[in-house]
Amino acid sequence: MDSKSKQEELQKIAQEVEKCQRCSLYKRATRGVAGEGNPDARVMFIGEGPGYWEDQKGIPFCGAAGKLLDELLQLIKLDRKEVFIGNVIKHRPPGNRDPLPIEIEACRPWLDRQIEIIQPEIIVTLGRFSMAKFLPEAKISRIHGQPQTVEFQDKKIVVMPMYHPAAGLRRGEILEDLRKDFLKLGKLLESSLKPEPSREQLSLI
Ligand code: URA
Repeated sequence: MDSKSKQEELQKIAQEVEKCQRCSLYKRATRGVAGEGNPDARVMFIGEGPGYWEDQKGIPFCGAAGKLLDELLQLIKLDRKEVFIGNVIKHRPPGNRDPLPIEIEACRPWLDRQIEIIQPEIIVTLGRFSMAKFLPEAKISRIHGQPQTVEFQDKKIVVMPMYHPAAGLRRGEILEDLRKDFLKLGKLLESSLKPEPSREQLSLI
């Protein structure tokens, strides 16, 4: 799919999310927050669900946790326009409570379609709810920052679990882990960008 068609498909999802009544979260939310970013993103970040500011503005990660996410992206010279940022849940759970399994399941088709359209090289899960989508048995304290290859939509994809930025705002050690994990992500992106050596270059080795 070319970039324009991807953008159009993502736009369609955003419009459908706006009208979504697949669970009851829409009743108390101001609006749906579908997610946003580059349709050709190499990296897709998946958080939990909209909080107060996201619900007000319709933009993912635009509150305090989003400010930290922007700083972490800057650390590896990534701009939010280059990546795609979305959530497991598209309407804000009341009082920012944890999403219920039934809500996660109801919201699943939106995120699945976004992943299918974008086909990112790497999915970074932020927090345990998005990690559980790909790695239901994993423990975040054990595997954060370690790229995992998982089977998803009949393909192998790389998932890099990380702590949620909101947890980094609460605890200094987690913030340190987030910084280290982002630096690892930067290295991973650099290494997968390196062109394969040509035959001529190989003959010189
Ligand atoms: N926390 C999330 O998980 N997602 C957002 O969009 C904002 C805060």
